[in-house]
Amino acid sequence: MDNRITTSIVTIGDELLIGQTIDTNSAWIAQQLNGMGIWVHRRVAIGDRRQDILDVLKQESALSDIVLLTGGLGPTADDITKPTLCEYFNTRLIQNEEALQHVLHIFESRGLPLLNRNLEQSMVPEACTVIQNARGSAPGMWFEKDGTIYVSMPGVPHEMQGMMESYVLPHLAAHFETPAVVHQTLITSGMGESFVAERLVAFEAQLPSYVSLAYLPNFSLLKLRLSAFGSDKLAVAAEVSILFHELKALLADILVTDRDIPMGQVLGELLLEKGKTVGTAESCTGGLIASWITAIPGSSAYFKGSVVTYANEMKMKLLGVQQDTLQREGAVSEAVVREMLAGALQQLNTDYGIAVSGIMGPSGGTPEKPVGTVWIAVGSREKVVTVKHHLRYDRDRNTQMTAVYAMNELRKLILQ
Ligand code: AMP
Ligand code: MG
Repeated sequence: MDNRITTSIVTIGDELLIGQTIDTNSAWIAQQLNGMGIWVHRRVAIGDRRQDILDVLKQESALSDIVLLTGGLGPTADDITKPTLCEYFNTRLIQNEEALQHVLHIFESRGLPLLNRNLEQSMVPEACTVIQNARGSAPGMWFEKDGTIYVSMPGVPHEMQGMMESYVLPHLAAHFETPAVVHQTLITSGMGESFVAERLVAFEAQLPSYVSLAYLPNFSLLKLRLSAFGSDKLAVAAEVSILFHELKALLADILVTDRDIPMGQVLGELLLEKGKTVGTAESCTGGLIASWITAIPGSSAYFKGSVVTYANEMKMKLLGVQQDTLQREGAVSEAVVREMLAGALQQLNTDYGIAVSGIMGPSGGTPEKPVGTVWIAVGSREKVVTVKHHLRYDRDRNTQMTAVYAMNELRKLILQ
């Protein structure tokens, strides 16, 4: 769409440039804006340098309707965004009474002495509209100049998010005629994105120009997101709904869920619906599966616990794995995950269990069992499924993929 409202996100801070802090602010802001039909077409990161800030303000305002800045509003000498904004907008700092009272209150309630540098945080550029910061001491600033909106916010993510939600997003929505945007996401497993794309060639070819399909591979899962823009929200939603149904039907055999939710929630909802419980016996994932399951509120209704057994000794002691099996087959083997699963079902007294054992790397592989070898067993007392995977990534990714595979395997078993 050519008449899109465009935004530049500018993140300011030396720590972002040296990789000390990962820029999560841009991603969060982009998601919020995207959800309301405002297009982020540029993201820029710069250091705490006066000239770079001045240059970026000039450059981005020439390209975008909205320039959102985060960072550089702290009370320390390295943070120079505020005086630099004064210079750019040719204005001066004045005391803001509400911000002052807020800073006084923060320090008083914490019993801390108030330093001059904290008081200075309640000074704001005269030319701005002040955005109060309910979660911290540095207020945000909203400027309008030559048809461009500029918003400067603190770098601290939850302070920035509070301001965005309470002030910036509603004011942007009121200021611009934002289009209706509708997203619908589904998740598939077991088929690579290029094969899925092959299957969807005809479907994609018939999509109207204002509807797009995005492929978002994530570990062993593939997310597919249909997005549509239009002027009439109801009409857009109705159209996307029809297309989404069509998409689901085309992918029915590999569909995991028709919502954008984590695997822990997919599995949790299924267990809740069936009135069944689960527990895990984890070696190489070190409790990650249990952590993902318990990340979902209400998981106590179906999750009983986890036995994390890293050493062979613990596999025997806590799960009843036989010494003989360990010696004969090795800890990463089908026989051992079967015994781990049986032990978990008994010890945790659940309907279903998940057991994993693998070599996550970077060392520990052998010619017969190279790094990335993983055995998974899932099931109940009546039925067990085992699978072996050969993962090819780094330790972190291998571990996460093992967790996704194992949870998905149990999901499939329950649905059989
Ligand atoms: P500041 O407003 O510059 O004082 O930022 C305070 C803190 O927020 C920094 O020390 C960082 O830890 C964090 N921060 C700043 N910018 C970002 C960003 N783009 N994403 C995530 N965290 C950030
Ligand atoms: Mg900073």
